Amino acid sequence: MTGEKVDKNQIDVIPACLESKGADSGLVALARMTNIKKKKIIKNKEKGIQKVRFIVQSLFALLCIWIGIEFYQFIQYLETNGAAAFSSRPPGVDGFLPISSFMSFYLFLMTGEIHSAHPAGFFIFFAIVLVSIAFGKAFCNWLCPVGFLSELIGDFGKKIFKKDLKLPKVLDYPLRSLKYLLLGFLFYSVFFLMSTTALQAFLDSPYNLVSDVKMYYFFAEISRFSLIVIGILFLLSIVIRGFWCRFLCPYGALLGITSLLSPNKIKRNPVSCIDCGLCNKACPSFIKVDKIKTVISDECTSCLNCVDTCPVADTLQLETIGMKKKISKKLVAIGVVSIFILVTGYGMITGNWQNNISNEEYLKLYENMDSFGHPTGTEAVKKFNEDALKNNSETEIEKK
Ligand code: SF4
Ligand code: SF4
Repeated sequence: MTGEKVDKNQIDVIPACLESKGADSGLVALARMTNIKKKKIIKNKEKGIQKVRFIVQSLFALLCIWIGIEFYQFIQYLETNGAAAFSSRPPGVDGFLPISSFMSFYLFLMTGEIHSAHPAGFFIFFAIVLVSIAFGKAFCNWLCPVGFLSELIGDFGKKIFKKDLKLPKVLDYPLRSLKYLLLGFLFYSVFFLMSTTALQAFLDSPYNLVSDVKMYYFFAEISRFSLIVIGILFLLSIVIRGFWCRFLCPYGALLGITSLLSPNKIKRNPVSCIDCGLCNKACPSFIKVDKIKTVISDECTSCLNCVDTCPVADTLQLETIGMKKKISKKLVAIGVVSIFILVTGYGMITGNWQNNISNEEYLKLYENMDSFGHPTGTEAVKKFNEDALKNNSETEIEKK
């Protein structure tokens, strides 16, 4: 062969793709010659990050299981009216109360006060939002146990169907907006229907104090209807990857919005890109990475699958917009975990982790738990608001 000397890092990416797809050997050879002449391709030799991501997800899932076991022991203590061995309530369970945590966060913005009922929830919520501002929706595919489970189910589905099935746009777009509708309802209820007094009253209410215990019984004594719904979601997640996360999770919707504020985005270099489309195929969020220069999407979870898959060096990477500076994959892993640990650790060392509800109070609340309900619609929220304002003015008059 004449012409320029081929660098040993130079690779036949297009032919490799064709070969892997079982193309005719003549076509592969032709592509190989054309490829070498046309583009000097430097092979992407960077190590993938998917194993690290899997380890982080597994450890976080184990932590959640551990919290679940401790919480179960705490419930045993309540169920036996204090006769079973005492086990303290694990504060991490607050992380499973997103609505209460969100309201607590909003109350903090309005008053500067961290509500004492589920303070750990406040810090976990804050950490998750910060992670998304730094690295997009990374929480969903790096830490969230539901996201992890959803990914495993999706992988199982891919084994069955040999590829990720995607809904047609006509169904995908309206379904994707469902999670924003759920989030919109929560925003409307909290921002427009509830005064700060009502917000405080809700967080102080016995319902909120035992919302974690109520959540436990939702699953421990699950109704046939709920079980059927969960079963359907499970089956749908096998067929459509990430069905819950993509279409229904309001937490994902919130992080999708905050992730747009993140200055760190996946960037594609169209000059070195060979249009092989492997990044497109690797993206679990069905983003057409190979057709855009910068991934600005509420569905990108910074999983870095596309970056790992790209066969050409320095063609697809996470960059800080405006600085044109590559962010290493390891830094994403370290950053996501560190932000979470630092923020929740701050809550712990400042004494804002354990709530201040005594065991005696818990036992009393537990006895009457069935009488505590929560507002279930806009009318109920309005009524709650009015009652809170009325109670507040009565208290003011009594004080005078
Ligand atoms: S664009 Fe890349 S980082 Fe974002 S979800 Fe798709 S594969 Fe993951
Ligand atoms: S950016 Fe995507 S299409 Fe371009 S070379 Fe990399 S994997 Fe292939």
